[in-house]
Amino acid sequence: QAKGQGRNRFCFYTADMNVQAMAQLELEAALRRALERNEFLLHYQPKVDLRSGRVVGAEALIRWQREGGGLEAPGRFIPLAEKTGLIVAIGTWVIDCACRQLRAWSDDGRPDLRLAVNVSGRQFASGDLADVVTQALARHGVAAAALELELTESMLMEDPEATIATLHALKRIGVKLSLDDFGTGYSSFAYLSRFPIDTLKIDQSFVRNLAAEPEAAMIAVSIIDLAHRMRLKVIAEGVETEAQLDYLRVRECDEMQGYLFARPMPADAFGCLLQDGARLIGSPVA
Ligand code: C2E
Ligand code: MG
Ligand code: MG
Ligand code: MG
Repeated sequence: QAKGQGRNRFCFYTADMNVQAMAQLELEAALRRALERNEFLLHYQPKVDLRSGRVVGAEALIRWQREGGGLEAPGRFIPLAEKTGLIVAIGTWVIDCACRQLRAWSDDGRPDLRLAVNVSGRQFASGDLADVVTQALARHGVAAAALELELTESMLMEDPEATIATLHALKRIGVKLSLDDFGTGYSSFAYLSRFPIDTLKIDQSFVRNLAAEPEAAMIAVSIIDLAHRMRLKVIAEGVETEAQLDYLRVRECDEMQGYLFARPMPADAFGCLLQDGARLIGSPVA
């Protein structure tokens, strides 16, 4: 009897795996078409300076406008794009699009705005990230310092010595480098001090639990302190409440990003927000 059950189970899992594999193949094909058909777009989430309350730039977050469908968040397709290697081409598109947007802001009289893009592990390790960045900046005539790359600890720690070389190549170009989701990976302090980075970005899990968990608050404060001792800038992501804002402001966090200020939005909405004067602190946008 147990044997029979096992067989049924086996059949069940096989069928299930086929369905999953098929779904993945379909998604992969759809992703390839999406690149050709230009179905990706960037949304922009403001970064706010805590001293002035002003929008100093944005993070570009990719979206996929599926034909005849809805808008897909990156969590739905970036993992597969990573797995298949498609992320390298997608990432190149993201950097180009970000530079085009920086050009547009500059033409609209805001050459001071910075724009951050997320870089994936495969893209970072691909060997030509520095070339891709150089070409995009040149193509759109954008100052390197206006572009920021958000990297994660885990991607840097995979091969720290190669990482240091790549980071220096990027710094020579003049782009800014920041460590995203900081505190959730496993950076060694020895390497952290050797990475030529500009900014630490406190992971939103610590920000979310600031009030409820003393550990989260302790970690957030320690990251702010560490950043400042290393002469780095520090930004908090996922700020949703006034209480979190106040807590981080008192501890002298430099910049913030989160739904309290604004959600990620299309380029034209971001343009409107800039026109409205854009002092976001004290007047959160829903
Ligand atoms: P991330 O870089 O850590 O981006 C922050 C995520 O938190 C974004 O989700 C953002 O919409 C969300 N967020 C911002 N403020 C708040 C808040 O106050 N509360 C909450 N609950 N969430 C907030 P999103 O856009 O879904 O992106 C998820 C992740 O996908 C990103 O995490 C990043 O790792 C990845 N990603 C996004 N765009 C790209 C891209 O162009 N290339 C690559 N390789 N990865 C990307
Ligand atoms: Mg990010
Ligand atoms: Mg993050
Ligand atoms: Mg994150």
